[in-house]
Amino acid sequence: MADRYLHLTGTAPGRFLTRRLGLPQPAPLRRWTLETPRLEGPLLHLTAGASAVTGVAEALSRSGLPVVGDTDRPAAIVLDATGVATAAGLGDVHAALHPVVRSLAPGGRIVVLGTVPSPDDHHQAAAQQALEGFVRSLGKETGRGSTVQLVRIPAGGAARAAESTLRFLLSPRSAYVSGQVIELTTATPTPGPAADPAAPLTGRTALVTGAARGIGAAVASVLARDGARVIALDVPGAREELERTADRLGATALPLDITAPDAAGRIAAAAPDGLDVLVHNAGITRDRRLANMPADRWASVIEVNLDSVLRATDELLEAGVITRGGRIVATASIAGIAGNTGQTNYAASKAGIIGLVRSLGPRAAADHGVTVNAVAPGFIETKMTAAVPLFIREAGRRMNSLSQGGLPVDVAEAVAWFAQPDSTAVNGQVLRVCGQSLLGA
Ligand code: NAD
Repeated sequence: MADRYLHLTGTAPGRFLTRRLGLPQPAPLRRWTLETPRLEGPLLHLTAGASAVTGVAEALSRSGLPVVGDTDRPAAIVLDATGVATAAGLGDVHAALHPVVRSLAPGGRIVVLGTVPSPDDHHQAAAQQALEGFVRSLGKETGRGSTVQLVRIPAGGAARAAESTLRFLLSPRSAYVSGQVIELTTATPTPGPAADPAAPLTGRTALVTGAARGIGAAVASVLARDGARVIALDVPGAREELERTADRLGATALPLDITAPDAAGRIAAAAPDGLDVLVHNAGITRDRRLANMPADRWASVIEVNLDSVLRATDELLEAGVITRGGRIVATASIAGIAGNTGQTNYAASKAGIIGLVRSLGPRAAADHGVTVNAVAPGFIETKMTAAVPLFIREAGRRMNSLSQGGLPVDVAEAVAWFAQPDSTAVNGQVLRVCGQSLLGA
């Protein structure tokens, strides 16, 4: 559904009027296109004290942007704050960013590199945790479509682990991601960067559930763009829409209800050479306040959004259908983080996804060489949100640092980042794709 307010503020009289009234000023976001695959401008590399990780300059040199130590108009700024281990050291963060933050180009990116707060050194832990509050606040200040994130690299580790993450965050693909904290593991990225950077998923098979429309169709489309063979799954009742989507993408349609008892077996049969990427996207809402919610509305949401995800994941992992180096990406929601009136069932199912990802991620990596992550979309413009009453919809759109709703492709780009062959160190993470929504942490 069109965001008329965003169009209005894109015109001179509209901008004048809405500024006079003190209303939000959403900046049109620059997303990935074939013609604009990169940010336009240099990347300013700054440090706060001595680095506590190796290879930051090399990792940045592979980000796709020219790296400089000084510039008037950076498209991106990366501050290496991994060595900040005391409260006094936070002064170096201010000293590095204060003089340059205003010069960031519209639609620019700031990424602060930190390390994992130490359980053994409370001064280091305090200083590194401070970076989280800093980043989340700066994300609310920068405006003009700019975003700010914190990427934690294990202390003493190599920035090589952060390359796929930096490529994503320092590109137009992450347009609707802001105020996020990503904690990388020590896993060494294997098998390394793809031979063809424009099609990193070449030779990989990906299955996306709920792929007939909305976010799932966008995920299928972006994974196909990145070179994957895609199997698009949706309920038999959506067969026509599913086949249209699959045909458009050169994908295979798999009409199947994910809650069917034999769903995992039928998925395995549709991917005889195994699955490299499994995206659990199918989801439903059956909203009612708890006092008015019959058991069937509760049960159907838990069944589709959580139980079928747990079952299919377990069965496909145990049967070895998910290949080594494989990727599982599930779909949570900010409702699962912040809660929402009328959505006790939905929020419980989506919070359950977060529990699944955090618990299974490390074990799936150890036992199967597979990562498990989740996206947590905020307000995304789809049929689901078009059905929301006007005033709640307007509030949903504006209540974030970018003052607008996201598009399905924003979620899809995040899924594609998790799916990258060199995203091995990205595991057990929940990435909010919500424009830094004011709801939840
Ligand atoms: P949508 O309703 O447009 O699409 C969901 C798709 O899932 C549909 O095609 C539907 O047929 C399919 N599906 C439902 N039950 C299924 C089943 N049992 N088996 C197979 N397929 C099934 O929704 P959307 O907005 O694209 O949402 C996609 C995912 O993102 C959902 O998990 C949703 O909870 C989540 N999400 C969406 C938003 C948003 O703002 N749109 C926000 C947060 C989270």
